[in-house]
Amino acid sequence: MANCAPATASSSEPLTNETLPRTCNNCYLSYKDFSCYYSGHYDRLIQLCQDHGLLKKQAFCPHCGKECRLDLLKKGFRCDRSYAPYRKKAKKRCDYYLNIFKGTWFSRTRLDVETALFFVYLYVSDFFSYRVARTELALSDMAINDWSSFAREVIVHWCIRHKKQIGGPGTTVEIDEAKFGKRKYNVDRVSEGQWMFCGFCRQTGQFFVVPVTDTTSKTLLAVIMEYIVPGTTVVSDCWRAYDCLGDEGYVHLTVSRAINFVDPVIDAHSNAIARRWSKLRETTARCGRRRYNFVGYLSVAYFKLHFQDPKTRFHAFIKAAADLYPPPL
Ligand SMILES: [Zn+2]
Ligand SMILES: [Zn+2]
Repeated sequence: MANCAPATASSSEPLTNETLPRTCNNCYLSYKDFSCYYSGHYDRLIQLCQDHGLLKKQAFCPHCGKECRLDLLKKGFRCDRSYAPYRKKAKKRCDYYLNIFKGTWFSRTRLDVETALFFVYLYVSDFFSYRVARTELALSDMAINDWSSFAREVIVHWCIRHKKQIGGPGTTVEIDEAKFGKRKYNVDRVSEGQWMFCGFCRQTGQFFVVPVTDTTSKTLLAVIMEYIVPGTTVVSDCWRAYDCLGDEGYVHLTVSRAINFVDPVIDAHSNAIARRWSKLRETTARCGRRRYNFVGYLSVAYFKLHFQDPKTRFHAFIKAAADLYPPPL
């Protein structure tokens, strides 16, 4: 069951994103656990979001300076105390209210918190499909599109945070660049039409994705040298930007040449991953999905490969969402 004990926050500590109490280090939830424990329990859902840093646990009244109480019915923090205005004898009621969702990941949607979290659980599970989301959550295709896009954004963020050097002699890394994002993001987040560069290793399934300022040879080569071990065979779909890779200690193949490229030492496990990746490539191309979504789809596939046990994915996801959209102070 959930390992999300309520935190005891000290009200004397100044609140910053670092000191904001975030208590859940790990939770392990099957779909049955999740639906039995959280369905219809608004208080538990709010607690869950607070324990993972998606919603703030405390708010302080700007009039009296004391901690507000959480009013679940009104979906916000309230202060009904009184305070003495400067140089005035008569006390005034604070009458302060702060919506708990204001400025958070949820503020951009009309979905209620329960549907949103159930959607997220479905999205990261192995049984997500539009049909399931339509029947289980009664969502329109448009809402599913939007929420899939929100979810992919979080997963791309997770991948960026967890990028590391991949490949090595005897391995093959496929690289690709794509434009990502259609909505407006805040300055320090992925900006609209941001170029992303990704690479994945056919043998190990390791993956990296990094935002890049442009797609010139100079920029991409710098990323390749930072994230791909020299000696790796690098596969791309064009020569132009990467024709100097050979000088930097990499073996470069284009996709057209690489189709018939067979690694003689590749094992069954690696083949499975390679098949999975190539299937994903095919599916994304066949469905005519926009190129900027490709990084998103690859990131989701990598996220699921990384967290092979589906019960661990929800926790990782909402922690990443909280990292990308910390509640305002
Ligand atoms: Zn957790
Ligand atoms: Zn007050």
